[in-house]
Amino acid sequence: MESQHNLKTAITYLKGVGPQREQVIQKELGLFTFQDLLYFFPFRYEDRTKFYKIQDLKAEGSAVQFIARVHSVFESGKGRGKRLTARVFDDTGSVELVWFKGVSWVKKSIEAGKAYVFYGKPTVFRASLNFAHPDFIPYETARLEKAGGLEPVYHSSEKLNQRGLHSKGIQKLMRNLLEEIRGDVYETLPPSILQKFNFPDRISALMAMHFPKNPEELKQARNRLCFEELFYLQLGLLRAKKKRQDKNAGHVFERVGDYVNQFYAEKLPFDLTGAQKRVLKEIRQDLKLGRQMNRLVQGDVGSGKTLVAWISALIALDNGFQSCLMAPTEILAQQHYITLQEYAKGLGIQVGILTGSTGTAARRQLLKGVKEGDIHILVGTHALLEDRVVFQSLGLAIIDEQHRFGVAQRAKLWAKGKKYPPHVLVMTATPIPRTLAMAVYGDLDISVIDEMPPGRKPIETQHYYESSRLKVWGFLKKEIEAGRQAYVVYPLIEESSSLDYKDLMEGYAAIQRDFPQPKYQVSVVHGKMKPEDKELEMKRFKDGETQIMVATTVIEVGVNVPNASIMVIESAERFGLSQLHQLRGRVGRGADQSYCFLMSGHKLSAEGRKRLETMVETNDGFVIADVDMQLRGPGDILGTRQSGMLDLKVANLSQDQAMVKLARNVSDAILKSDPNLELPEHARILKRLREIGGPKTAWAEIS
Ligand code: ADP
Ligand code: MG
Repeated sequence: MESQHNLKTAITYLKGVGPQREQVIQKELGLFTFQDLLYFFPFRYEDRTKFYKIQDLKAEGSAVQFIARVHSVFESGKGRGKRLTARVFDDTGSVELVWFKGVSWVKKSIEAGKAYVFYGKPTVFRASLNFAHPDFIPYETARLEKAGGLEPVYHSSEKLNQRGLHSKGIQKLMRNLLEEIRGDVYETLPPSILQKFNFPDRISALMAMHFPKNPEELKQARNRLCFEELFYLQLGLLRAKKKRQDKNAGHVFERVGDYVNQFYAEKLPFDLTGAQKRVLKEIRQDLKLGRQMNRLVQGDVGSGKTLVAWISALIALDNGFQSCLMAPTEILAQQHYITLQEYAKGLGIQVGILTGSTGTAARRQLLKGVKEGDIHILVGTHALLEDRVVFQSLGLAIIDEQHRFGVAQRAKLWAKGKKYPPHVLVMTATPIPRTLAMAVYGDLDISVIDEMPPGRKPIETQHYYESSRLKVWGFLKKEIEAGRQAYVVYPLIEESSSLDYKDLMEGYAAIQRDFPQPKYQVSVVHGKMKPEDKELEMKRFKDGETQIMVATTVIEVGVNVPNASIMVIESAERFGLSQLHQLRGRVGRGADQSYCFLMSGHKLSAEGRKRLETMVETNDGFVIADVDMQLRGPGDILGTRQSGMLDLKVANLSQDQAMVKLARNVSDAILKSDPNLELPEHARILKRLREIGGPKTAWAEIS
């Protein structure tokens, strides 16, 4: 009988481990069981499949392997400068090998006249090739031990080294482990999948990950394990989604009534984009089903998400239900409030706003209105979550900027529904790559607004060094003369960093010099100002009284000034990609051609350069999100808490996007044909799912 028992054994019981090594492995690598160790894969492999000839060695690139006979071995230098040199040769030439450390051991192990397999990285020293500290084993042993193959290299550490657990030591443990557990690793994929994709079986794949015979075998092993991992992730998410759908009944919003119709007829001065129509259709479909909607709407800044959310709220209203819209910051909540009030004018719809700074009297009045149903749509910050906020009939909860809100908060909103939880619409303007969304929000339905309203001219983005400052200023002056306005943004990495404020205030002073009054008026806004002052300055800019707004990133989500057509970002190399993209989204909101100038110093890291280049190349938030993920990895994009639930051992979400899609499709098809996994051929899947214990996503838990 198959048994998983052995895999759960503590590593101390593995041949070659014992309590001391166990402790250091636990501490340094976080591995506790046989299973943990089994999935501790090499981080790279050294190619031992190919043997070089000495004449073909080049001093560049990676380590190489060659067979040579030792001509002579000699010591030179003294004390710390002591070293051992061996001259070795094959039938094409000769080369020198040098050791500075472990000299006495090497001296004992290497013998003139004998042949060895050497492995190391060639470098040039005094115009000739040379190897420092190459690995070597006697040719005779080499033939017996490793007839070629890829040599696994494991991460180690100082503390592991002290216990003999350098890469080679770990390698030895792996051999013991594989021998020990061979019979305990059962197959987790159904035969049909193995056949269809020509995957190796599980134990073969695991063995090949540690000791691949050749690159091809390694690739196939990795593919299989990568698929398996993503397949179970997707399967778990899809099942959680289905379970939630089955369990959580929702209000049925059948009608599209007067509010929607009147808004369309009287208040909508333009047509919806194709993408907006499509997404609204998806939402309407959800709202009719009698199940709670859980939909994520992704779309770039300015793609018209707010409008879609508003129309969804009108549908709720047409069916007799209130809505709320929760934003992560006060400024953003205010912005939404202003927008929605504008939309609501003349329709007899009451919009309210509740934030931390709502006064006591106003709050009391507002909460009464919400409870009695006089307020139809309530906008706000976290303050909406408080227990004293009670709705008469909450039918739809709209959440802006999902990943700034925690799961517990989302659950609190749900609890505010009466008979059923409200439908949930999540909007995010930070597009995350589709495959990442699939992996993380796999239990939400996803809509994408991938089309901009017509007439928007793409923002032209250019990168300048400080030396071109005058040119940029000259351009600003010309545009300002033509009636436009400009933002100049300084990085504010830390709210409290006085250095950042110094940059900002010095920049402000310089701009005031370069753009003198009374011809030019310059505003400044930053997080340390009093809210009233901030608001006043923003209003002056919005009303066109000032032409330049010097600001920190507080304007990232804060303002909407269609006449502002230039965004200058100072020290742009200090911003992350998605933040740069968000900032750029502040312009390009009107009919004029807009510009974004990225100012940077001459010294740029490779990554910093890539970020600026990407900004210059594209306006597409999804492309930017993809590059961002490649640069930073998915963890940083989602925040560690959310990526923690994706404990992936093999798959890499930015590199394995095709595999994510495949895993998604295959699991979807399987669940469609056999929702409860009752078919005999799916028995393995069910067993494995039980063992993994369902998806680790927190979403799934509150569902
Ligand atoms: P988002 O919330 O995605 O940033 P908004 O809904 O705030 O986008 O829309 C940005 C701007 O574009 C608003 O001024 C809005 O009135 C306008 N807008 C939205 N949809 C359209 C459309 N289909 N055609 C023209 N303008 C639109
Ligand atoms: Mg918006």
